[in-house]
Amino acid sequence: MPSILLNSRTQFSLDSKNAETTLSLLQRCSNVDELKQIHGRMLKTGFVRNSVLTSKFLSCCVSTNSSNLVYAQMVFDRISRPNTFTWNIMIRGYSQSNEPEQALLLYTQMISHSVEHNGYTFPFLLKACSYLSALQEAKQIHAHIVKLGSGSDEYAINSLLRAYAVSGSIPSANLLFNQVSEGNVVSWNSMIYGYAKCGNMEKAFELFENLPIKNIISWTTMISGCVGAGMNKEALNLFHAMQDAGVKPDNVALANTLSACTNLGALDQGRWIHIYINKTRIEIDQVLGCVLIDMYAKCGDMEEALEVFKKMKRKCLSTWTAIISGFAIHGHGREALNWFAQMQKDGIKPNAITFTAILTACSYAGLVAEGYTLFESMERNYDLNPSIEHYGCMVDLLGRAGLLKEAVQLVETMPVQPNAIIWGTLLKACWMHRNVELGKHIGEILIEIDPNHGGRYIQLASIHALAGEWDRVIEARMRMKQQGVSKLPGCSSISINGIVHEFLAGHRSHPNMKEIQYMWNKIAERLRYSGYKPVIEPLPLDLEDEEKETAIHQHSEKLAISFALIKTRPGTTIRITKNLRVCEDCHIVAKLISKIYARDIIMRDRTRFHHFRDGKCSCGDYW
Ligand code: ZN
Ligand code: ZN
Repeated sequence: MPSILLNSRTQFSLDSKNAETTLSLLQRCSNVDELKQIHGRMLKTGFVRNSVLTSKFLSCCVSTNSSNLVYAQMVFDRISRPNTFTWNIMIRGYSQSNEPEQALLLYTQMISHSVEHNGYTFPFLLKACSYLSALQEAKQIHAHIVKLGSGSDEYAINSLLRAYAVSGSIPSANLLFNQVSEGNVVSWNSMIYGYAKCGNMEKAFELFENLPIKNIISWTTMISGCVGAGMNKEALNLFHAMQDAGVKPDNVALANTLSACTNLGALDQGRWIHIYINKTRIEIDQVLGCVLIDMYAKCGDMEEALEVFKKMKRKCLSTWTAIISGFAIHGHGREALNWFAQMQKDGIKPNAITFTAILTACSYAGLVAEGYTLFESMERNYDLNPSIEHYGCMVDLLGRAGLLKEAVQLVETMPVQPNAIIWGTLLKACWMHRNVELGKHIGEILIEIDPNHGGRYIQLASIHALAGEWDRVIEARMRMKQQGVSKLPGCSSISINGIVHEFLAGHRSHPNMKEIQYMWNKIAERLRYSGYKPVIEPLPLDLEDEEKETAIHQHSEKLAISFALIKTRPGTTIRITKNLRVCEDCHIVAKLISKIYARDIIMRDRTRFHHFRDGKCSCGDYW
């Protein structure tokens, strides 16, 4: 990248020793306070009129960190006729800040002031375009670059290519790619990123495989692309391949790979990466810390999550929110409340996401009064307007506690339009507390606002089943068929000896399927012996879940548990991750297996954890 910094004293001559001192002070300056002092000195000595010194000053202002941009802007505004060089400094500063749109705005001002742009103006503008995915602006800048005669400059092309790829304009990016592709890893990476971003992982893989020399960015782009596309297993494979290729992962690659472990519930692999981080002395920064806490929490190991949390020297709001969310999904409401209080003692103010976590914690643990007080305090004490997520938590909290009237009242009076999630939560409460009349009414509302969601019809059918209205059950199913909606297949994953095994409901694709079937038959026999009767559909409230055509004994979690019982030593904990909510029958089966086989089963479903032990579940049978 070309440097637009003045880094050598020989580039200009200063007329006094004083100026030289100011310059050396600027070169050594490291924070805002020092900058302000130097500025004071410049005002006193009249050096603010020295354009070289002022530019140098601005350059320092924008390069330390973005909070100084306000100060830089103030100084910039006082320059009577800033030159191209000075404009470029400001554009560069904003392009690297969290308000890149200001860079584009400055550029339009630059044009309206008839200030010439030069070759250094564009890369930063294009960087801003990339951040903002601003395709139209990128196109305009492209035209300016061509007009300036820099259209074949490789650096400009790469910046443009990136901006096009990031904005999803693959054809334009491709045109440029064909101009530079040979041996230019930067442009390859941009193209890979572009394909990954628009979800075309097939094309991204194709490019990646053809890329002769892959650098860390190539690998990281692929790994994060896979995680974004839900291809978590592929992300893990890439991570291992990257190591085989001798490329040392950076924090971004590690964070993404840990996310893949989280999504798969692959505790062993996640743990392995944690060990790797410690061994290679990679610093656990805020991002990595949060991902680690999240990984341990969502893979069912709260102790280790807390360990990572405690070891982090500097805890930011996301760190605290991560640990509170962890306790929430595990149903440890009191713990979550304690950490929530501790966080504020440490001087950290909760935001909307923290409130979602703490309200969820109260809801899952049945802490009605505490949840209500917190909810009410949001606006009063924290200046936060409750969003639909927060109302959702409250509806769940009230519904769970059987306070259906209060829950309905909240939905009717909330200032935001209730969505399908809110109604779904209310319907779940109706079903759990066997309030058929209200349930039927809400079921109809749900189908009206969410007609393409297969699960909604099943919910309505289940409510009618409760009332014994079988003709209405059939009718609800017919409506679902007529609407042509189908449901997401259930998928459970389990990690054994470092290998992630995935089971799809009703699919027989696993290589050990024969063994698994044999095992399940044995389990079923023991279950029957202990008095188990399968919950015959459509009685279970299969909230938006499993394909009903699939027999319930082929539900993915049953296959995964059977497999785990074959493959793991007696007494070890079985950890399963499920993409949907667990159905009532599987819940009963898991409880029984935990008792009969003396196994702890930790199952993470779409929203929370179930810890099955000795015939009981941590969710208290409400989920
Ligand atoms: Zn099931
Ligand atoms: Zn449970």
